[in-house]
Amino acid sequence: MTFWERIYLPAILGGLWTTLKHFLKTLFGKASTVRYPDEKREFAPVYRGWHVLKRDDQGRENCTACGLCAVACPAEAITMEAAERQKGEENLYREEKYAAVYEINMLRCIFCGLCEEACPKEAIFLTDRLVPSDYVRQNFIFGKELLVEGVEPEKRIDVSKRQKHVTEAR
Ligand code: SF4
Ligand code: SF4
Repeated sequence: MTFWERIYLPAILGGLWTTLKHFLKTLFGKASTVRYPDEKREFAPVYRGWHVLKRDDQGRENCTACGLCAVACPAEAITMEAAERQKGEENLYREEKYAAVYEINMLRCIFCGLCEEACPKEAIFLTDRLVPSDYVRQNFIFGKELLVEGVEPEKRIDVSKRQKHVTEAR
């Protein structure tokens, strides 16, 4: 070590100068941080968040419980139980098979989007919604009640804008 390195003074002054620079930047509104929660940073248009299981135009669930999303999932976060559509249920499920149980473990999920890519029925999509935080692990197992979009027009989850950006990014 040189003499100046051994006395540490230049390194200490350099560190203080860096701190002072960031302090002045913050003071004059040029900070790279945001004052959350008053200020919120804009997400990328292709942000991958809370999944949605889509319905078709007639309000029927698109998912046929084929299991391809679960196979594609590297985190083994998806589980499902398939069931046969019964007579009179044609208005509920688009195809003869449907997912009676469909669960995503949000603690396992790495939001890679491979489930969305694997789905042949345009049933599962990631959205720009944040998965809320919680203290109870069990609450991160999202079942159909949290995944399937509502039938009513105001309860539908629009994925078209995000999907347009995803297609352009590919
Ligand atoms: S986003 Fe990735 S990790 Fe999450 S459920 Fe889909 S495939 Fe699995
Ligand atoms: S979400 Fe798609 S890939 Fe997954 S089980 Fe349903 S239809 Fe198959």
